Amino acid sequence: MSDRVKAWRVTHPECGEIVVIADSAAIATTEAAAQWGVSWPKTAAMMDAVYIGMRLYCTCSRCKRQFVTEVKTARCPACQKTHEYEIKKYAQRIPYVDRRAGAKN
Ligand SMILES: [Zn+2]
Repeated sequence: MSDRVKAWRVTHPECGEIVVIADSAAIATTEAAAQWGVSWPKTAAMMDAVYIGMRLYCTCSRCKRQFVTEVKTARCPACQKTHEYEIKKYAQRIPYVDRRAGAKN
């Protein structure tokens, strides 16, 4: 499940940088202030919102959390990392068998 949404990169000299979903630059600054937990009227003047294009708003198939991504993926970055770790762990449990011609096992 995914929706195409407008993404903005909002920067502030003290709060740093954040990517938010909003329809306009003004809404992007209010969203950034809310996520940083700062007062919007006090910080808005120093904020700079740059439109970075359309992004996909996906729901993770594993933890059901919603996340923003550039390419369509089934899992959020945290779950993808866990998934790759589990695959690696599983692969280590499979005994190595030499299947080349003439190999003695
Ligand atoms: Zn997840």
